Parts: sequence; C-alpha cells; structure tokens
Amino acid sequence: MIAKHFPNGCPVTRIGITGLSGAGKSTLITAIVNHLENARRGALDAQPGLAAIRHGRWQRESERAFDYDHALTALTGEPPRWPESTRDWSIARLTLDYDRRWYSLRPRRRCLELFDYPGEWLLDLALIDWDFADYTRHWVDWLARSPRRQIAPGLLDELAAIDPAAPVDEARLQALVERWSSMLADSRLPPHRLSRNLPGRWLMPGAGYDPGAMPFLPLPAMLSSGGQDWASGSWGEVCRTHFAYYRDRIARPFFESHFGRLDAQVILVDLLGALRSGRSALADMRAALESVLEPFRYRGEGRIANLFRRRIRRVAIVATQIDHLLPADQARLTRLLDSYLFELTQELAGHDIELRLFAVSAVTAAQTREDARGEPMLVGVEKSSREKIAFTPPSIPEQMPHDLDLVIDDLPTLAPPAGLDRARTFPGRRVDALLDFLIGEH
Ligand code: GDP
Repeated sequence: MIAKHFPNGCPVTRIGITGLSGAGKSTLITAIVNHLENARRGALDAQPGLAAIRHGRWQRESERAFDYDHALTALTGEPPRWPESTRDWSIARLTLDYDRRWYSLRPRRRCLELFDYPGEWLLDLALIDWDFADYTRHWVDWLARSPRRQIAPGLLDELAAIDPAAPVDEARLQALVERWSSMLADSRLPPHRLSRNLPGRWLMPGAGYDPGAMPFLPLPAMLSSGGQDWASGSWGEVCRTHFAYYRDRIARPFFESHFGRLDAQVILVDLLGALRSGRSALADMRAALESVLEPFRYRGEGRIANLFRRRIRRVAIVATQIDHLLPADQARLTRLLDSYLFELTQELAGHDIELRLFAVSAVTAAQTREDARGEPMLVGVEKSSREKIAFTPPSIPEQMPHDLDLVIDDLPTLAPPAGLDRARTFPGRRVDALLDFLIGEH
C-alpha cells in the first residue's frame, strides 16, 4: 500500500502515466524527473506556472520506486541506451521546494508521485463492467473484421464450433489459448499495431499473474444458445468462471487500489507508429482511448467508472517520440492529433475534466541538418547498428481524413544522443509544457 502522505507530511499530487508497451513511458518519466531535478538550472524557466519551483529532489528510498538510477545509467552510458520498458507498476517520487513570498499561504514543499503502469492494464478498464457474454460479443465482432480476421485465420470458426455445454477438452483448450496469445501478440506488433488486445495482462502479466493458470476464451456459440446453465467442467462454466476471476481478482483490484488516488492521468500514444500502419491501427487506437475515457463521458453506473473520475481532473493524451519529425511537422502533429481526437475532445468538453493534447519528445535523438540542396533532414544514430544515419522524415498533414485513410512512410529507430548528463536538462520538446499542465500554478 502506498502512504497517503510522504513521511514529512507534505501534500501529494499523484499522476498516473501509462501507454502501451513501447510508447515511451520509462523515457518520459526519466525526462520529467531530470527536468525537475534541474529546475535550479533553468529547465522549467519557459513555463510561468512552474517558475516557483526552486528545486526538485528524487526520492530513491521508497517502496516500488521507479528505477531512475537504472534509467540514468542507460541514457548517460557509453554508448547510450534507452531505459528498460515498463513491465509492471512503479512510482517515481519527488519532493518539490517552492520559492514563496513570506505572506504566501501556498505550501513551500509539495510531493509528486508519478505512477507508472502498463497501458495494457488500463485497457482492461473496458471489461470491468462486462459479463462473459459481453466479453464474447465484443471479441466476435473484432475477430470478424479485418485485420484481425487475417491475423488469426479460422480462429473465430474454431471457437464458434465449441459447444459451451460440452465437457472441456484440456488439450484443445491449451492449443486454442496458445493461438489466442499469438493473435494478441501479432495484433500488437507491426505491421498491425492494434491497441485493443484484451485481456491486457495476457500480453503484460506483471508480477504474480500467470495467464496460463486460469485461461478463458470467448465462446461465440453461447450468444445463440440461450441458457447458460452449464455443468461444472464444461467449456462454458470453465471459461465464464476464469473470466470472472480475471475481472474481479486481477483487473479490478488494480484499479480499486490505485485509481481513486490519482489527481491526473497521462496517456501516451504512439501516434507515429499507428500512422505507419494506417487506418486499422488508427481506428483501433482511437476506440481504445474512447473506451478508457468512457467513465468521463457518461454518467455511468459502473463502479470503476465512478472510481476513475472521483478525483482525476486532468487528462493529457500525449503523442511521443516526435523528434523523428522535422520541426514544422512536429507542430503539425499536434494539430493532426487534435483533428484525430476531435469527437472525443468534443464529448468531454463541458464535463468536469480538462483534457489536453500534447506532442512531445522526451529525449530528442535526431538533429536537424540541411542536405546538399539546402533541404532540411534529420541525422541520428540507428539503434541496433549504431551507425550514423541521415533521413528525410515523412511530412505530416494538419488534418486527419475523416475515414482515417492515412499512412506515412516508415521511420528509423534511433539510439539516444551521446553526452547526456544528469546535471543538465536532457534535450526534449514540450516536456515542460506537459508538466505545466499537470502541476503548474496559474
Ligand atoms: P515504455 O515501454 O512505454 O516504457 O517505453 P520506453 O520508454 O521503454 O520506450 C520504448 C522505445 O521507444 C525506446 O526503446 C526508444 O526506442 C523509443 N523512445 C522512447 N522515447 C523516445 C524519445 O523521446 N525519442 C526517441 N527518438 N525515441 C524514444
């Protein structure tokens, strides 16, 4: 359990930071801590709302601490590496000291907790209020459509052939569970880059959960067969019981112990990745965002819905790794994100939540140069070969086509820049603006 206050009793602001694997959570948290640590050296000077922060100090000695030491070792090493990806939850804790006038009633010290957890777990929010029939219905719909139909050819038919009332066949269940896991993993990876890969913990289990121990699969035949009086040991009974166990004992407790305590939530999205895959990835990512933000849109009855919006007042949706683009395109990406999520932001406007969209680079790995004809291009070091490369990134339109029919060319994966130093602000873009939205005083 996390302490409600820091030992010194200072008021705590808790910010959840999540995003699907590879979105850039670990790197962004490292960059945020680095910016706050360098407040004295001007890292936050461009943001008036953060001007009073004199000093930020990372708290190493705390429970489930985010491994900032490891991240610094990686980024500042020779050669530099990216920090390890988030695979479980952890918390980066900082104390922030403020410059105050003698008569100010505001606290001179605040505590900040950055709660890092896999976005795969956040997606499970969708199934918290579902029963097994809802789960099956959603998956039948998703599996029937492209590209999932092609990713797992025949899987839907095989599942549909199972009679939920028949005794479960362990070997067949095992084989189907393996196919299910591969389907989730393939959906997640390029070229598809789909987001709604439930159950989220099958891809990112975290400590203490073994997806193979109590497996379950959707059973399409249950949707037409009416009664659900399945005998013990039948497909229907086993899958329904295991689904309920997952929902009530794995997914829900996570939200119950952490969500009611968050003041703000940051959701990182790999928009550049989705743009490389095109329409299906863009549609799936947007649907995933809509489902996790649903508690804010409707005055729903769901228990988790209430928990989620009890305290969270600010949500930032953040497109990451924009240093892969030329500066003019970085600005256009924010407008593209705005156009892509227009309906969602419209629906949330007027509710008691502030939603803001950002396009950031946590640690800028590419530099702008001019080619022989004077045209701008980017140079950086390729991540695996470690060779210096020059590339002309794709240009970004300002608007998302209504049918999401947009694909951009592939981009290289870069290594972090050389020469990063903890005692200087890491090169990045809009990290300070994001912080200003989250904790700025206005
Ligand atoms: P997580 O899985 O969400 O914790 O994501 P990570 O922080 O581990 O980042 C995943 C990968 O994205 C890294 O290994 C880098 O290749 C890339 N990445 C993350 N942040 C940046 C960034 O600011 N700039 C660039 N160029 N690449 C980044």
